[in-house]
Amino acid sequence: MADRYVYFFGAGETEGSKEMKDLLGGKGAGLAEMARIGVPVPPGFTITTEVCRLYLRGGRYPDGLREQVAASLARLERATNKTFGGDEAPLLVSVRSGAAFSMPGMMDTILNLGLNDRTAAALAAASGDDRFAFDSYRRFVQMYADVVLGVHAEHFERLIEDTKRARGISEDTDLSADDLRELVARFKALVRDHTRADFPEEPQEQLWGAIHAVFGSWDTPRARAYRRINGISDDLGTAVNICSMVFGNMGSDSGTGVAFTRDPSTGERRLYGEFLVNAQGEDVVAGIRDPLHIDGMEQALPNSFHELVEAARLLEDHYRDAQDLEFTVERGRLYLLQTRNAKRTGRAAVRMAVEMVDEGRITPEEAVLRVDPGQLDQLLHPMIDPGASVHLLTTALPASPGAASGRVVFNPDEAAERGAHEPVILVRRETSPEDFHGMVVSQGILTCRGGMTSHAAVVARGMGKCCVAGAGDVLMDEARRQFSAGGTTVKEGDWITLDGTTGRVILGKVPTVEPELTDDFHRLMEWADGFRRLRVRTNADTPNDSEVARRFGAEGIGLCRTEHMFFEGDRIDAVREMILAETGAQRAIAVAKLLPMQRADFEGIFRAMDGLPVTIRLLDPPLHEFLPHGPAEIKDLARKLGMDPVRMREQVERHHESNPMLGHRGCRLGITFPDITWMQAQAIFEAAVNVQAQGVTVCPEIMIPLVGTAEELKRQRKIVDEVAAEVFYQCDTRVDYLVGTMIELPRAALTADRIAEHAQFFSFGTNDLTQTTFGLSRDDAGRFLPEYVAAGVLPDDPFQTLDVEGVGKLVDMATRLGRGVKADLKVGVCGEHGGDPRSVEFFHAVGLNYVSCSPYRVPVARLAAAHAALNDRTTEPRAAPAPVADAEVQEIEAMAAD
Ligand code: ADP
Ligand code: MG
Ligand code: MG
Repeated sequence: MADRYVYFFGAGETEGSKEMKDLLGGKGAGLAEMARIGVPVPPGFTITTEVCRLYLRGGRYPDGLREQVAASLARLERATNKTFGGDEAPLLVSVRSGAAFSMPGMMDTILNLGLNDRTAAALAAASGDDRFAFDSYRRFVQMYADVVLGVHAEHFERLIEDTKRARGISEDTDLSADDLRELVARFKALVRDHTRADFPEEPQEQLWGAIHAVFGSWDTPRARAYRRINGISDDLGTAVNICSMVFGNMGSDSGTGVAFTRDPSTGERRLYGEFLVNAQGEDVVAGIRDPLHIDGMEQALPNSFHELVEAARLLEDHYRDAQDLEFTVERGRLYLLQTRNAKRTGRAAVRMAVEMVDEGRITPEEAVLRVDPGQLDQLLHPMIDPGASVHLLTTALPASPGAASGRVVFNPDEAAERGAHEPVILVRRETSPEDFHGMVVSQGILTCRGGMTSHAAVVARGMGKCCVAGAGDVLMDEARRQFSAGGTTVKEGDWITLDGTTGRVILGKVPTVEPELTDDFHRLMEWADGFRRLRVRTNADTPNDSEVARRFGAEGIGLCRTEHMFFEGDRIDAVREMILAETGAQRAIAVAKLLPMQRADFEGIFRAMDGLPVTIRLLDPPLHEFLPHGPAEIKDLARKLGMDPVRMREQVERHHESNPMLGHRGCRLGITFPDITWMQAQAIFEAAVNVQAQGVTVCPEIMIPLVGTAEELKRQRKIVDEVAAEVFYQCDTRVDYLVGTMIELPRAALTADRIAEHAQFFSFGTNDLTQTTFGLSRDDAGRFLPEYVAAGVLPDDPFQTLDVEGVGKLVDMATRLGRGVKADLKVGVCGEHGGDPRSVEFFHAVGLNYVSCSPYRVPVARLAAAHAALNDRTTEPRAAPAPVADAEVQEIEAMAAD
């Protein structure tokens, strides 16, 4: 017996089921399952994905397929009491593609297949409705010609418009049966002109043409690109569903619609959707006429509405998840045409998951796995009031989520000044570390250049501020203190609003709504915490950030960058004085000024993190970042510090570096300027002792940055330990502390065993480790990295998702080497990757102790860590790849076009 290539569904003879998704595709498995559990579906049959594989590989259909299709068609004729190509009750079918995962680029559904001049006349006679018959016919010719024969739909639309104009009517629904009959003839003539062949009249020929087109669409560049980006194998293939037609366009007791079993934007448990009376197929989505809200269906077609409610209940009970349904009502009879798990917003996902636990449908474990960690991001930031009307200036990269309004400022100093008493938005071509003081006080940041990992984007995400980056349409005119976009000129001081979640730049002040952390959210997170093994800390530099992060569930600080404290207010002058000092005595004076300020900072942070570990990184950036630029600034500073300006210029020049990222920074500063390490350690320990005396539990972990050799760490640690001993002796007390290092250079990873001899913990600085492993500067990579990713040279932006193959190998190796020397070595991650769900999965797998990420990503990391632990426990296949955002789909489309 030949292999089985076709599975029947409906009419009590269903052969497939929801378990057969790989073989029947999502749509086919769904139709079979609905039929199985007694939901009304029009009968039909599915040609398996295996046929697609064989056909694409061998260039022909497998033996036995034609016979099996013929037999299934005969069965369908019996079940419907109609005949394919028949003169009395003609059987019409839809031909629908359907792979295991839905993807763009696949063939669009063809409806009403089987119509020709003969069967159209028969359909008119059988239904007693000429208009209906010819409306169906012209739709079929149009769709088939477009999808199978490659004659663009717009040609047909033009003919329809011509006819409407000639008749003086505006709506498609006003076309008469005769108009439609004539349109069919003109459509066919058009097809002949374009293809030099007659439109296929023979239903069998139509059917095989459509089947061929479905299989062919598996290989379109758009579908291929989508699969590559989403890691879906090219070998899966698509199924073909051939489904007997039901007609929503048979009058006012007919219609078609879509429904969700729960509200996909809020998660509320109620039927939600849209419905059109007297319409077919895609009319609802196509927006040709305004559909009714689903509640309107209750009045229009009460019986069918109640059947729909019942079907929705049945399907939700059965699938134990919210469903997205397509349905049609033919003369008062309801049919379902599709069911699938509903797409939903982050907010809805949380509410649905928690309520389904309360309803006893799913376990807390399942609830946790139902919510995509990346989606939580939407919940944690303010958003533009959905009801507000907006004047859009342009749309660019959604670089850091959230929404904010403020007055436009063009330079960081101005921002710092103005931002102290009113909200400002910093608008720059691009930002650099020197702009930091202006960024901190801004409500949001808009840049004209740079990508998702540009300086502005990374810093903004770290601070939980919104940022729109790479706005090429924004034309800056700094000289006149204005910019223009979308034909509007915006001057300094004007209000604008940024939407970092969608990338919108909006004129004026638009109301925003605060995120609301619901009880549902907290319950879900508590469950997640119960499952995860990784701890989650935060990257925070201020007491305020620390408090925010604590509210989001951070279990400590994984990275406190002390240089940010140096930039604040007039501290920068003391820092400059320290750097430019020419004698030890001069330096001691400057250091003495900084000490109390740093001590106060640390006290604030220790208090905020009472009882939790705080990792403090000693000074890291290159010195020149602190120094004055240009003659005016130098003169100014020389006056303030009482130094000779000429001498100062020489000093400043001495610190100039051509490649600062690989220059005099990190522990190299501490080695050559031990006073800095000494001062910072003293500030930390004095702060620790002080707050401990007030009853605060402190656990400082001092982190030496940019270590490349064991010797560097050994020397820096010696200073820290000496200062600690000194402070403890003076105060006659002690504080438990750790000294460890950041692993952010390949050499450190390669010699991690040597380094571990001097380290009490490791923390992978995966941002720098990615830069140094790839030999790639993050700030410059924006120019070509997106192209790399689009062309598939790299699977992902390695600054967003850890490069497991390369950087990950170093992380894994260094962890093993380190723990080989010290079995209980505490190992964490403090790069942006700590808040990226896919990277978190990897960090879990290598057995790290914790990840640390920006405060607003903490819940994302907690949930991702729970997913990692739960997926580790089960041997279930991985969940379907997350749907890509529309913007990404557009990108793929643009790519496929060239
Ligand atoms: P998509 O994946 O684009 O939704 P579908 O195959 O689900 O494609 O169908 C497109 C539209 O045609 C939907 O509105 C669907 O309900 C409708 N449709 C598909 N098959 C039939 C059928 N046999 N009878 C009536 N309508 C159908
Ligand atoms: Mg559909
Ligand atoms: Mg670093």
